[in-house]
Amino acid sequence: MTVEEFSNEESFKFFGLGGCNEVGRSCHIIEYKNKVIMLDAGIHPALTGHSSFPFYDEYDLSKVDILLISHFHLDHAASLPYVMQQTTFKGRVFMTQATKAIYRWLLQDFVRVTSIGTTKMEGGEGQSSNLYTADDIMKSFDRIETIDYHSTMEIEGIKFTAYHAGHVLGACMYFIEIGGLKVLFTGDYSREENRHLHAAEIPPVKPDILISESTFGTGTLESKADLEKKLTNHIHATLTKGGRVLLPVFALGNTQELLLILDEYWNNNEDLQNINVYYASSLAKKCMAVYETYTSIMNDKIRLSASSSGHKSNPFDFKYIKSIRDLGKFQDMGPSVVIAAPGMLQAGISRQLLEKWAPDPKNLVILTGYSVEGTMAKELLKEPHTIQSVNNPEMTIPRRIGIEEISFAAHVDFQQNSEFIEKVSPSKIILVHGDSVPMGRLKSALLSKYSSRKGTEQEVKVFNPKNCEEVKIGFKGLKVAKVLGSLAEEQLSMLKKEIETKIETENEKIVEIKEEMEVDANDGDKNEAGVDTLHTGQFLSGVLVSKDFDLNLLQLQDLHEFTQLSTSFVKSKMNLRIHADISLMIYHLEQMFGYINILNDDEEEWECVIMDVVDIFVDKTKTGPGLQISVEWINDNLMADSLADSVIAILYSIDSSPASVKLSSTTHTHVKQETESKSAHAKSEIADRIKRISTLLRAQFGDCLQDLDNDKATITIGKHVAKIDYLNLTVECPSKVIKDRVESVIRRGCTLTAPLSQFQKV
Ligand SMILES: [Zn+2]
Ligand SMILES: [Zn+2]
Repeated sequence: MTVEEFSNEESFKFFGLGGCNEVGRSCHIIEYKNKVIMLDAGIHPALTGHSSFPFYDEYDLSKVDILLISHFHLDHAASLPYVMQQTTFKGRVFMTQATKAIYRWLLQDFVRVTSIGTTKMEGGEGQSSNLYTADDIMKSFDRIETIDYHSTMEIEGIKFTAYHAGHVLGACMYFIEIGGLKVLFTGDYSREENRHLHAAEIPPVKPDILISESTFGTGTLESKADLEKKLTNHIHATLTKGGRVLLPVFALGNTQELLLILDEYWNNNEDLQNINVYYASSLAKKCMAVYETYTSIMNDKIRLSASSSGHKSNPFDFKYIKSIRDLGKFQDMGPSVVIAAPGMLQAGISRQLLEKWAPDPKNLVILTGYSVEGTMAKELLKEPHTIQSVNNPEMTIPRRIGIEEISFAAHVDFQQNSEFIEKVSPSKIILVHGDSVPMGRLKSALLSKYSSRKGTEQEVKVFNPKNCEEVKIGFKGLKVAKVLGSLAEEQLSMLKKEIETKIETENEKIVEIKEEMEVDANDGDKNEAGVDTLHTGQFLSGVLVSKDFDLNLLQLQDLHEFTQLSTSFVKSKMNLRIHADISLMIYHLEQMFGYINILNDDEEEWECVIMDVVDIFVDKTKTGPGLQISVEWINDNLMADSLADSVIAILYSIDSSPASVKLSSTTHTHVKQETESKSAHAKSEIADRIKRISTLLRAQFGDCLQDLDNDKATITIGKHVAKIDYLNLTVECPSKVIKDRVESVIRRGCTLTAPLSQFQKV
């Protein structure tokens, strides 16, 4: 049960510390209602040292509540140990289990590679050129928490759920909810299922804001089948003419997909089976172990083959691919295929082999990933005549090796991205993870796609901020309050009762229909309205408690149990003396409130309660003229105070009312008119109350309710008509079930007041 309200505009802020108008060092901050979430903490693969980091100095990291890592790729996760160990960050960090498992190996490798890459000297732990140490990785690793796909975490009012993003093993999208505002962060994602991974999912709930990658902008990717064919054709042709094939890859991710493709191709082509395929990575074995562990979160193809035909076959236990740690045991004797890290050829095994094989035109290098600006991979795409040796910068190497780009980068192309956006249907889109040009093109393409909505409520806004440029989006915050405790129980039991009543009514109706059919099968005068549904839109009242930005609606007595807040009651009491007698007082109160609940009437005391809020006591033991009255109420809301005010006003007015004088000497009926007109205020209160009860009845019975003149109404259900008198709150109906039901709604109308009139149950 929830309650909502439209509050004033509150703004959502997006601040990109990296990965804005670029691919690399992804890191974005989102802020809403004083909650701060950081998305990813990557490095820029083409830059080294601290300049490869997001602009951490531009933001007070101590403000971050939660850091969510989308996947293990270095451009999304590699500065995490730095953030956790060497900055003021003190939030909690989440990633999926698989990401965490891979992240560990990957970063250890990264530390090793970068310490080689940035200093000429060996063994640089603790050296200033290191971004962080192996020790930082281990210490931070233990503090990383994991989240399963499709599970929702709630931390200090921030809710987030992980969904499959495709892309690489463990990659997820985060659906984040802060104070009613919904944000979807895609991370890197792909919409095409491959040999082992799920495609990205469409979350079941629509976000208000989508933060989407835009790597390929408006580009179109070839179909997977075409890409595979192109890849295997190129490899086959190169090997046949005696050449060598180098596939520089990222240690993990697409690599496993490529290995699955090649193993299958070798299996189908006997002529290739004497040619070696190597997977060369210091992480090869560890990564494979991780992949074997996590087949359960992969797609059905892999899951089925992992548990196929009784014998436990491991889909990553390749028949034709040999894993090697380094080039130590690699005998370069003739045609071969080497799949080697790193993907961008900055250093390491892939770079060594490139430099070795570059001069021979029979050889081929196939770039299968996304090539970041400034890396050797990107440089190669320009087909340079020479390349530089990484270990000896003065040396240039002639480049005659063939270069092909066959992109298996698991990102969405324009069609997939715009289809996804269409399905997710956000009104605000923030583009990240794309170079300026493709990102700008994507923005224009999306804006023109949604141009017809411009100026309407459904207008789609697209932002492509630069790093450190703040995007501020105003939102009409939707406040949702949970109904807790006895208030919820009350609602539930009422709902239960209504359902029971409905079933009874339906049964009655069936009997009626049967009867009618027996009497006259063609009599079409059946009232369909008997089949009413349970309506929403009732008013609830209680104490609204705000914690973080969660709102809970509950009854005062439950406050402590559910919120640990203590309550203090301010009870008001007022003593007065009037000259009338009790029956005259009852008459006046009933004129005003319709129904008063007399709790006690004995020798010593008379007590009643009005609308369950204001108590009136008459001390019969007190002697003297008239009545000694005390009025008591708890000041827990404005409504109680104003109700008490009007009770007191009525009590005071009894003595001065001309009606009272006449009433005490003549008959009741005579003075009714005068009494009703005595106070415009009282009249409007009554009118208000009638209106409220009528609204409640309409919510329950819909068009079965017909308001008549003279503060009367009827409710027609089937052949039964219930007659209601709003003034004395009586119900007459031959069907006891219907009578009880209408009476219970009216009773509720009297007890439920509307101090929270802006709240409506949904
Ligand atoms: Zn990625
Ligand atoms: Zn990325």
